[in-house]
Amino acid sequence: MPTWDNPLITIVTDKCRMCYACVRECPAKAIQVVDGQARVIQPRCIGCGNCLRVCSQNAKQVRDDTEKAFALLDSGAHVAAMVAPSFPAEFIDISPGRLVAMIRALGFDSVHEVALGADLVAREYRKLLDENPESRYISTPCPAVVSYVRKYHPRLMPYLAPVVSPMVAMARVLRHDLGPDIKTVFMGPCVAKKRASIDTTHREVEAVLTFAELRTMFDKRGVKPEAFTEDDDFDPPYAGVGMVFPISGGLLQTADIKEDLLSGEVVVAEGRGDFIETISEFDVTHADTRLLDILACQGCYAGAGMTTNETMLQRRTRVSNYAKNRLASYSEEQAAEVEGAEERYRDLDLSRAYRSDEQTLGDSATWDELQEILHRMGKFTAEDLLNCGACGYDTCLDHARAVYAGLADSEMCLPHTIEQLRTAYDALEESHRSLEEAKEALERSGKLASMGQLAAGIAHEVNNPLGTLLLHANLLLEECEDSETKSDLETIVDQGNRCKRIISGLLNFSRQSRVLRQPTDVAELVDRIIRTAPAASGVTVKIDNRLSDPVADIDPDQMVQVMTNLYSNAQQAMPDGGDLSIELTDDPETVTIKVSDTGYGISEDNMTKLFTPFFSTKAVGMGTGLGLAVSHGIVKMHKGQITAESNADRRQGPTGTTFTVTLPRHEPKGPVMGERRE
Ligand code: ADP
Repeated sequence: MPTWDNPLITIVTDKCRMCYACVRECPAKAIQVVDGQARVIQPRCIGCGNCLRVCSQNAKQVRDDTEKAFALLDSGAHVAAMVAPSFPAEFIDISPGRLVAMIRALGFDSVHEVALGADLVAREYRKLLDENPESRYISTPCPAVVSYVRKYHPRLMPYLAPVVSPMVAMARVLRHDLGPDIKTVFMGPCVAKKRASIDTTHREVEAVLTFAELRTMFDKRGVKPEAFTEDDDFDPPYAGVGMVFPISGGLLQTADIKEDLLSGEVVVAEGRGDFIETISEFDVTHADTRLLDILACQGCYAGAGMTTNETMLQRRTRVSNYAKNRLASYSEEQAAEVEGAEERYRDLDLSRAYRSDEQTLGDSATWDELQEILHRMGKFTAEDLLNCGACGYDTCLDHARAVYAGLADSEMCLPHTIEQLRTAYDALEESHRSLEEAKEALERSGKLASMGQLAAGIAHEVNNPLGTLLLHANLLLEECEDSETKSDLETIVDQGNRCKRIISGLLNFSRQSRVLRQPTDVAELVDRIIRTAPAASGVTVKIDNRLSDPVADIDPDQMVQVMTNLYSNAQQAMPDGGDLSIELTDDPETVTIKVSDTGYGISEDNMTKLFTPFFSTKAVGMGTGLGLAVSHGIVKMHKGQITAESNADRRQGPTGTTFTVTLPRHEPKGPVMGERRE
């Protein structure tokens, strides 16, 4: 029985980048992905090695039997090396004779070609077909194929040819020739054979090494090809045409069975896709097929235990060239021995039986359960079922079934994950934008705070001396008779008053922190402002009062200041006349005042500076640049919002500006950004 304590293939989770290539390529669906971690479900694995081939991260590990082989060599028993016939495709840097010498140098007592086992197995197939003309067979030299049938198509087991693999046949030959106590170590391209060595009831092969592992053994023992001056030769018994066994259809050629394409009696299938499809269809579509010669790889020389990067054609050529040269190089004596092998091992039992190892995925899911899983993957309609295969499963439904069986995660659905990422990205962008806004508001309120302190200081120091200065200038003006001096004094009073206006703006600015809320009729407040400051010539003022409840808890004096600023700015922006409209709207929580004009508008550059103290585009003496800064501070102290929209570019439509002030109807709880406390 196989032991799962010593698994054949494992996944190095640190290296695994979750590309799902192995899930996609595993014909047995033996790779489970749960919580973002992939692992091999050992009882489902057929050892075909596809996952090793497709893993670009080298995150798959094959059970290493080199130490086991070293232990056998140290045991004192006769240890026979059995070299698979695909070795010429692997050892392109080492001649066959040199390879034999190197294997012997590792401590092996004899070195044999498994190709003889292939010769004998081929003979069995010929016999089987001749003696059972009504029977149909699936060939069994490939352990991955046998495993696949036993696990996933057990009802096809009666078709599995009851013949051992060339590896086991060779082990039996060697025990026949060298005695039952010898130990055998197989060296080949195949990963699945490692499982076969522990799977067979007799455990006829003590260790199975891949060619990659054989190279590791050479490295570990410092066995280098250049250390050998003479080539060595394989030990008898010698092999015949079985040397071409690794080539697809090699079994037929060795057994001299004709692949008659027209009759369809013999069908050759190889490689991942082909072998699964052919097996699944065997009893339906291949009713006339007497022998299905099938390999899980594209020829044994494509096995996952190879290290060569050569193309399949190059590998195939190397194997057939070796066979041609080797057979031609045999002495008469050797050729006679090969001829006699069939007779010599006539009584050797090369039969085997099979036990089912059926693997199921448990109860199948109901449609409702599958739908629930599909919904989790964002699939609600038929169009959502993209069947893109990115998850490793052919269809979305297969993926959902695997999720139900606990083999897969719903997160493996790439389109769904991308969609989720996009949503997360949008949310992040939105939060980034509001953070930026908050940062700007913070900077602005910081600037305003320091400006407030500065303003308070200046106002305090300058206000009194300025008052005295103006008082005296006015007194002098009253008494003055001389018109020239009078004009000078008038200039002094004028400029002094201008300074006073600036000082009073600064004082307002520094006093914003105190809000004295009281129930105020907002419509009445706006009306009052318009009545006390009539419109400039050419300016039409309209009020659109849509308030359902005009009363709000605000500081009326401060709000008069805000409205007066906005009202006079709007008028000044329309020197040639225009429309000034004030729109009042509300909801139970807020009151909104919009002041719009059809003036010259504000350039994009200036939009960012509007609320900065002392920013003014007005002529000297016309503006202090404090109106909007003060208004901003007051609105913020009311825990409200003030925003501006404007167009100064005629090409983009009518010019004009709208300031929108939104105030909470009642004092909200908790501080608001930009709030300053005394
Ligand atoms: P001041 O009015 O003293 O210049 P404000 O802080 O009230 O200071 O305004 C700052 C600047 O914003 C103004 O100089 C002007 O350039 C611009 N501004 C404000 N309101 C308007 C408006 N309604 N139309 C065009 N520009 C405006």
